[in-house]
Amino acid sequence: MLSQTSSAIQDYLKALYVLEVEREPDGTAIPTTALAQRLGVSAASTTNMLKKLATLGLVRHAPYRGAELTPDGRTVALEVIRHHRLLETYLAEVMGVPWDEVHAEAEVLEHVLSERLEDRIASMLGDPSFDPHGHPIPGKDGSVAQASTRTLWEVAEGDSAAVERVSDDVPEALRYLARIGVLPGAAITVLRRGPLEGPLFIEVEGHDGSDALSKEVASTVWVR
Ligand SMILES: [Zn+2]
Repeated sequence: MLSQTSSAIQDYLKALYVLEVEREPDGTAIPTTALAQRLGVSAASTTNMLKKLATLGLVRHAPYRGAELTPDGRTVALEVIRHHRLLETYLAEVMGVPWDEVHAEAEVLEHVLSERLEDRIASMLGDPSFDPHGHPIPGKDGSVAQASTRTLWEVAEGDSAAVERVSDDVPEALRYLARIGVLPGAAITVLRRGPLEGPLFIEVEGHDGSDALSKEVASTVWVR
């Protein structure tokens, strides 16, 4: 199904999927504005594309209500995401590309990876379940591990949590998080929360002292 869709279509479906994962489990449709913002495009072009995707049976879209993936749309999104996350893992583990650079490379390569090469990469890596940022890699059959919807920003003062995954698309944030040890699996304790919008003062197990995270960055770290 993937080979019948353009890169642009694949990017929209992927963005919609990621927004659906990040919303609350009982969430409603994704607002057009949220999708446009994530893709860095205008609301007008997003609306046009959603109409096209609805015609193709890949999304359900109602004006003023937003959009959601149909089962077919979800299948395509998961295929692209499988490519993306396998490529990130391959680039990081086999080629030694830093974790803040693999996303940009995978964004391009995900659209041109053949099924044959995808299979070879997966078996060479031992069919990994997670990418370097802690995101679950969908299986060939479209199965995917349930991701947490709780962010580090939501952890109460004095509480601890384990990092599940971090957002992969802001290289500066990834470099900072790696420097202070906020990596998938790390145990974090929230020491103190600044007034209003933070910052969040945290302690990372195995690291001395405390570090500060803005609300923006703490909201892109998901925990269990
Ligand atoms: Zn990525």
